Amino acid sequence: MTSVYIALGSNLDNPGLQLQRAVDDIDSLSKVELSGCSKLYISEPVGPAGQPDYYNAAIRIETTFAPLPLLDALQAIENNHGRIRTVHWGPRTLDLDIILYGDEIIDSDRLTVPHYQMHLRNFVLCPLLDIDPDLTLPDGRKAATLLAEVGTAGIEVMATKYPWL
Ligand code: ATP
Ligand code: CA
Ligand code: CA
Repeated sequence: MTSVYIALGSNLDNPGLQLQRAVDDIDSLSKVELSGCSKLYISEPVGPAGQPDYYNAAIRIETTFAPLPLLDALQAIENNHGRIRTVHWGPRTLDLDIILYGDEIIDSDRLTVPHYQMHLRNFVLCPLLDIDPDLTLPDGRKAATLLAEVGTAGIEVMATKYPWL
């Protein structure tokens, strides 16, 4: 089993419910056990202006999925949530990013882990720290230190305990 952190985001079609259903969908996968769940956050959009606010959260799972099959399973869940890929960083019903896969460093065509922008995104770091306040990256950096550098502007807690709604 490997501990994996996944970031969830949505800003279309009842985003809070999209995220809550996504957690259930991931937990239902046969090779996955849910081992942690963050608070639910609302954050200002990154990318094209004029899109609705984002809802964000993170989970930790224990899994026997190898990295690419896990990405396949998560992308199938995104598609089941009606995700349509149009503009880069545009609005979406569901985004599932693999943030950390154990202590592995992965750099392939389809997968970069740790996620290449995790250290810059408070809407990723805040939920990760809910699950493990001492979380450390494979390179030894502390998530809490990264969040202190980025700050908490533009992000608010919507609900504390899962199920959020
Ligand atoms: P960002 O990656 O900046 O958060 P995004 O989530 O909007 O942007 P997507 O369109 O969801 O980007 O994904 C584009 C591709 O990124 C996916 O098809 C996937 O192959 C690749 N990818 C690379 N690393 C990861 C990762 N750690 N988790 C999820 N997808 C990844
Ligand atoms: Ca993303
Ligand atoms: Ca993504």
